[in-house]
Amino acid sequence: MKKIVSSLMLLISAAAIAQTQPPQLTEVWQPEPRIVTPGKTAADAPEDAIVLFNGKDLAEWQSADGQAAKWKVADGALTVAKGTGVIKTKKAFGDCQLHIEWRSPAEVKGDGQGRGNSGIFLMGAYELQVLDSYKNRTYSNGQAGSIYKQLPPLVNASRKPGEWQTYDVIFTAPVFNKDSSLKSQARITVIHNGVLVQNNATIWGATQYIGIATNQQHGEKEPLVLQDHGNPVSFRNIWIREL
Ligand code: MG
Repeated sequence: MKKIVSSLMLLISAAAIAQTQPPQLTEVWQPEPRIVTPGKTAADAPEDAIVLFNGKDLAEWQSADGQAAKWKVADGALTVAKGTGVIKTKKAFGDCQLHIEWRSPAEVKGDGQGRGNSGIFLMGAYELQVLDSYKNRTYSNGQAGSIYKQLPPLVNASRKPGEWQTYDVIFTAPVFNKDSSLKSQARITVIHNGVLVQNNATIWGATQYIGIATNQQHGEKEPLVLQDHGNPVSFRNIWIREL
């Protein structure tokens, strides 16, 4: 009882002190957040974003070997040209906010992993799966919104094939020690068509098709890579903000 009374006295005196303090004491004025003019809609690039695809050309992209990117550009979208391989950004990125829109073919062909498969490899290593997951069952950690072979999406927010879909991604790069050991794992938040599907989730390591993902040291910044999985998946309105 004595203990409770003394605890209560402490609380009351703390509250009394708080009331004598000016409210300004807990205001933070510096630094002032810089001004960024947002896009007209949430899909438009904000003022400080790097536009990675402007709907017209592949100027920001190249093939894996550094040659010109060979994917098709038409009607404001870029589309996988089967067999030409991945494309990667000329610039490299670490922590970032990414907006990207994608569309699986309206004409449904194949099933499971064979239907509208592509992928967005953050830092060229961590695949955010792109797949037509509308009424197309496959393994949960391989469907749209998954971190491939690692993290299933929280829900399936897929639109119908042929419809444009959005990913808004917040990515935290892994950090490596000087001896190349891992200091902190990569983390990712993904919003698919406005629905949260990855919530600051920890990425195990670089995406592997076979076996468990492992962490291999890479640069502090690496290119963004889009996958050629043989399906004519399209992308548009791609922009990125370095964090
Ligand atoms: Mg894929």
